[in-house]
Amino acid sequence: MSEQFLTAFYGGTFDPIHHGHLQPVIALAQLVNLQRVILLPNHLPLHRPPPQATPYQRLMMTRLAIADTPGKLFIIDERELRRATPSWTVETFQAIRREYGPMAPLGLIIGQDSLLTLPQWHRSEELLKLCHILVCARPGYLHSDHWMVHRLTDDPIALHHQPAGLVYCAATPELDISASDIRGRLHAILPCYDLLTPSVQGYINEQGLYRTASVRTLL
Ligand code: ATP
Repeated sequence: MSEQFLTAFYGGTFDPIHHGHLQPVIALAQLVNLQRVILLPNHLPLHRPPPQATPYQRLMMTRLAIADTPGKLFIIDERELRRATPSWTVETFQAIRREYGPMAPLGLIIGQDSLLTLPQWHRSEELLKLCHILVCARPGYLHSDHWMVHRLTDDPIALHHQPAGLVYCAATPELDISASDIRGRLHAILPCYDLLTPSVQGYINEQGLYRTASVRTLL
């Protein structure tokens, strides 16, 4: 049995980071007893159009969102943002695994929508050998677990006692918020005050972000 506690990473485009990203993960941290959640903003996602805000602007918004969040749960890992080229999640976790060692319990936090596409991710079976998958509920996405039934656990303690390979679906609050909806609202000059933290909203206003429509806004 490992003596180490689970370290959880949370990847995302965060274009912009919003309450739908943060609040379910705060609830997940309580359910699973996570001391730290390491945010991993993507540089250039491989499976979707490029972000509208620059990597620097997304990093700044992520920093501001953390500063608006009570406690010290979140920190940022800038490794993907600093890459000049896109990276697959499995490659990032290979590097993380090398750093933490073979026995350290590691987790990747995703939303329910991402769980549905996980089997199609690049080398997804290998990813599951590198980390657990911790899933936050997201409204509008049905639970479909046929491909991972043998990996499912409802015991959060088990996640701390083995390095990788389990899928835990957490009963976190369902927030009907998405970055694409926020970009659309900002483009239409509609308020987003209950969707974003105050500092992130202030930064978006100051930088004039998301005022023009982009391919991503229209998707
Ligand atoms: P977009 O609308 O541009 O697709 P998004 O709001 O889904 O963006 P991402 O940065 O692409 O945000 O998502 C990063 C991670 O956060 C994904 O695993 C996604 O499932 C999760 N996530 C995003 N919004 C929510 C939400 N409201 N509830 C639960 N999980 C969420």
